[in-house]
Parts: sequence; C-alpha cells; structure tokens
Amino acid sequence: MDSFYYSFNNYLKTQFQTKVRRISLNAGFGCPHRDANLGREGCFYCNESGFVSYKDIKLSLVEQIETSMAIFKKQFKAEKFIAYFQNASNTHAPAAELKPIYDVIKQFDQIIGLAISTRPDCIDEQKLKLIDSYCDQYEVWLEYGLQSIHDKTLELLNRQHTMKDFLIAVEKTAKTRIKIAAHIMLGIPGESRQDMIETALAVAKLPIQAVKIHIFHVLKDTRFAEIYSREKFEFINEQEYVQIACDFLEHLKPDCAIMRLVSEARQDLLIAPQWMNQKQKILHAIGSEFKKRGTYQGYYWRKDK
Ligand code: SF4
Repeated sequence: MDSFYYSFNNYLKTQFQTKVRRISLNAGFGCPHRDANLGREGCFYCNESGFVSYKDIKLSLVEQIETSMAIFKKQFKAEKFIAYFQNASNTHAPAAELKPIYDVIKQFDQIIGLAISTRPDCIDEQKLKLIDSYCDQYEVWLEYGLQSIHDKTLELLNRQHTMKDFLIAVEKTAKTRIKIAAHIMLGIPGESRQDMIETALAVAKLPIQAVKIHIFHVLKDTRFAEIYSREKFEFINEQEYVQIACDFLEHLKPDCAIMRLVSEARQDLLIAPQWMNQKQKILHAIGSEFKKRGTYQGYYWRKDK
C-alpha cells in the first residue's frame, strides 16, 4: 500500500537511513480556544482525553520520553526519535516559558527531531524565532490544525479561526527553516467530495511538507456528542472514506509526506463512526482502490501542472 502514497515513515527512512519513531508528549499545555476566561468552549469535536499520549501526565516529560523510547526500541528496533509535543496547543505560553519545556530534548542524544502541534492563531514572531533556533541541530516541524480550507466548515467545527489565519501562519513559518504540516479532516458533515478536493488543491499550492489526515468522528463529552444525541447527522461510510482518501491524495503533491492516512479514536470514547477503528482493513482498501484506478498520490497534481 505504501507505494501508492508517500508515507512519513518513508520520508524518515530517506532522511535518516535508520528507524525513527515519534514520541508523543503531553507537556500539560492548555488551549487558547478552551480558555474559560474568554468564555470559549473549544472545537466541537475536541475531547482532550482523546489525545493518545500520557493522558494523566503523572509522568514528567523526561519520564515520558524514557518510557516511550524503551517501548519503541524493543517493539520497533527504533534508534532515533522525534519528540512530538502533541496534546492541546503546544505554543500556548510566552516564548520564554516555552524554551525550558522544549529544551528537554537536549537531554537525549537519540532525539534528532522536534515536532510541535498547535493552532494557526497561537504563533508569533518570537515563538517562531525560538522554534527556528532548534533547526541548527534538529529536524523541526510545526503542525498546524486546519481541518478544512472552507470557513463555513471551520465555523461548523467551532474552530474560531479562519483560513486566512492559517495562511498567515504558514507564510510566516515558511520564512524560517521550520517544516510545516497541516492537520486535515475528511468526512466533515456538509462537506462535499469537491470541498475536500479543494482543500487538497489549496494545500498543494502552499509550502507545506506534510499532511496528517483525520476521519471526522464524534467522541463522548464533546459539543458534537450533545448535538448528535438530539439530531443525528450523516457520517460517511467506510467505502466513501476509501474513495475520498484516494481523491484527496491524488490532488496533493507527490512529495508531501502523509503523517497519517487513517486515524483511530479511543474506543471507550468513540460514539461514531464505529468503522474507523479498523485501520489496517481501511489502509488495505485504499491500496486496492488506487490499484483499481491506476492512480497514486500526486496523480492529478502532475497532470494539472
Ligand atoms: S484547538 Fe485543538 S486543543 Fe484546542 S479545542 Fe480545538 S482541537 Fe481542542
């Protein structure tokens, strides 16, 4: 399946010629969009317990890194690691406070990269300068949550930022040495196949080196869970996701690394769609669909050029 698209694992192998794993970290950051003082309630799909890494953060960052490293070395024979600050918005503090948090990576020789996930409206020149400073020694990524290029969809998700905010963040980041990834969601209610293709086309025009794809889903204890209990909305089914994932990848650039193609959710929190937690089956179906179509990632991007 891998050969139909450019997986982030392939990217890492080419870049480092050894097994590299990302270590997901929870540094205890909050999110400006969940700031009670501003009366904000967060994205309607967001349940912070849904983040996979170190939910209760009883472990320090050093302990989280040591624990994950030991597991990945044993399970995957990994030799090098990227520290991935994943939970919530990992630039949600002044630059001076961020530095000692990110600096934890300097204690580990086997860490060769730093990845930071955040909102496009939670970055500024000082923070970019700080993050760029790690590029002297590390592979550095900023991952911006976008989900869709369509403002009507961002409103529906209650993202509280616009496509323009994302473009500004990308433009500023592209002036640094930091690599940029965008988080995209497929299957959001109300989005057509054409809407999703337009998101791929827009991403392909930007200086974005990787994409992480999420399947739209509803978790317990979210606003969408509340809404869904009153008015059931339509989810795409597994076959539709396979079609849409292929459509989306066909319009991306061939050298845009795919950090994730099939997302999973914590089963105890997942309300719908239940089919999403069958990652290998869906990946296999996407491979078969590409084979049937005779296409691959970047197929239309190349044709349109
Ligand atoms: S920006 Fe991220 S952490 Fe904040 S509410 Fe939205 S999904 Fe949750």
